[in-house]
Amino acid sequence: MKEFIKKMAVLAIPYRSRLIAGIITGVIGGLLEPMLLIVINFVANACFPRPETDGLAKSTPWLDSIAKLPEPLHGWLAGWNFNLTLYLDDHTLNYPTLIAIAITIPGVMLLRGVFSYLNIYCLQWVAIRVVTDIRIKVFSHLIHLPVSFFNRTSTGELLSRLTSDTGTLQSLFSNSLATAIKDPVTVIGIFAYLLWAHALWTLVAFLVFPTCIIPIVIYSRKVRRSAGALQGRFADLSNVIHESFTGNRIVKAYNLEQTVVGQFSATAREFITHYMRLVRSMEIPGPLIEFIGSIGMAAFFVFIVMSSDKPPSAGDFVTFAGGVAFIYRPIKMLTRLHNQMEQARAASEKVFALLDEKSDLITPEHPLPLRAAGAEIQFENLGFTYGEKKVLDGIDFTVKPGQLVALVGASGSGKTTLTHLLLRFYDPLSGAIRIGGTDIRQADPAELRRQISIVTQETILFQDTIRNNIALGRPGATEAEIIAAAKNAHAHEFIIDKPEGYNAMIGEKGVLLSGGQRQRLAIARAILKNAPILVLDEATSALDTESERAVQAALERLMEGRTTLCIAHRLSTIFKADLIVVFDQGRIVETGTHEELLKRDGHYHKLYSLAYEK
Ligand code: ADP
Repeated sequence: MKEFIKKMAVLAIPYRSRLIAGIITGVIGGLLEPMLLIVINFVANACFPRPETDGLAKSTPWLDSIAKLPEPLHGWLAGWNFNLTLYLDDHTLNYPTLIAIAITIPGVMLLRGVFSYLNIYCLQWVAIRVVTDIRIKVFSHLIHLPVSFFNRTSTGELLSRLTSDTGTLQSLFSNSLATAIKDPVTVIGIFAYLLWAHALWTLVAFLVFPTCIIPIVIYSRKVRRSAGALQGRFADLSNVIHESFTGNRIVKAYNLEQTVVGQFSATAREFITHYMRLVRSMEIPGPLIEFIGSIGMAAFFVFIVMSSDKPPSAGDFVTFAGGVAFIYRPIKMLTRLHNQMEQARAASEKVFALLDEKSDLITPEHPLPLRAAGAEIQFENLGFTYGEKKVLDGIDFTVKPGQLVALVGASGSGKTTLTHLLLRFYDPLSGAIRIGGTDIRQADPAELRRQISIVTQETILFQDTIRNNIALGRPGATEAEIIAAAKNAHAHEFIIDKPEGYNAMIGEKGVLLSGGQRQRLAIARAILKNAPILVLDEATSALDTESERAVQAALERLMEGRTTLCIAHRLSTIFKADLIVVFDQGRIVETGTHEELLKRDGHYHKLYSLAYEK
């Protein structure tokens, strides 16, 4: 818990002035509760003086009590009391005086309200900013993590960490902070006042008080376990939602609606047990404590009747009973506080764990410059594994500047992985990739990626306008450059056919476009990027002939003057390639041009015959 509080405190440092304002107003708000008791006592004794005494102020324990106060406070209060007594003696308790005295109650209440509001306002102000900072920090940390992290973490889990867990943190943080500051002051203030005014009564009424600790201890442990489990279930739920909605077409095509609903409801129902345990943990201690409080109150009544003292004045009685009743609300809140903090800690643990995720791609402190234009790409004896699984082994070849190199081979033979190594999504286990002689691990990854354009089968488009999707290729590109890129990608015609043209929204992942149109937008983006190296993963899905021709033409345009590494499926690309690299189970089995490889009558010949027979 200490660790958690320390972390939150560090995050709140930038907002310390509001935090301090929140603390000060909280303390004042807390002190105003015992103040209210004092005022009620004062008013009650003014209105109902003891029959055996003649004056208002003379009869109050207030006068006796202030005798114990140190100077100059005592002198000041006594003087004030004297003046008041004189005034009351002179005027007797007429209506205006009565109203003037009674009005102190709403006066203190108003002050208490104002300070409580300011306390909550300032603390919420800090809480939302601290939590927003955490959200931004986690998001920007995650977005910089390497592909390997996203391979092993589900999107649903990340969604739930960034939205629900941080949300929980915020509401608990702001509520518990207000309680943590204000309520202890109130409890100590009221208790001190009661003890000071009526020591014996207080001891009787609070004799059973220490038993309050028992429900707090029992339930706080349960809260910790259930809060953690609840967040886990929430992540599962986010996963089901994310996968079902993004895979919505497959769900429909395979009639999986019922299966998905079943999955969703099973996960959603798992919530109930943990949630109800949390409800029990939060709600049982309060009434228990009130019950313990009422025992104290009953003990007080019995004591009053049985003791030989004279009966208390109305004012004393009202104040004391009020004090005992007043003190249990903040105590109840304080028992919840511990539970709330446990929940906040459970929520924060997983969020902070994300911040502890380290990138396994080491970026050099002093990166070497990388110039890919006109440079060779050398793959030197590369080896790579995904966990235990060997995926690439002894990959060794060179791509000359401006060459088109076709990577061919059965599915799963490691072609995509090789392109991922070039983009430095992962680092090789052995060997190196050099561009113009520089090992890419010694360059800044952002610099490396600036020099490579990538067009994949699975086009990555965002739910935005056509213009913005193309412009991602080069932020800051002018309208004319965007249109020129679209023209070169043979996309301009279909774009201007749309009623909104370049402003047309393309839907999530481009669902409002055809496969060929999506491809051409991705190509337009790559053309705009104008990087010297091009990585191409040709579409295997059959585009209609019209689209195929347009996409092909766009690709040819894109490849012009660039060094291209192409995972090739089309025979036309393979024929044209300056070098064909044939992969089989993570190894290169043949390299050469189409004619050379055909003559060799090996792997390539077999692949070619299979493709040709199709
Ligand atoms: P290709 O592009 O030639 O079809 P890949 O490079 O995609 O082949 O895959 C090579 C092998 O690596 C396959 O056996 C595949 O199952 C495995 N693989 C691909 N990506 C991952 C990953 N993220 N984690 C674990 N294994 C993977």
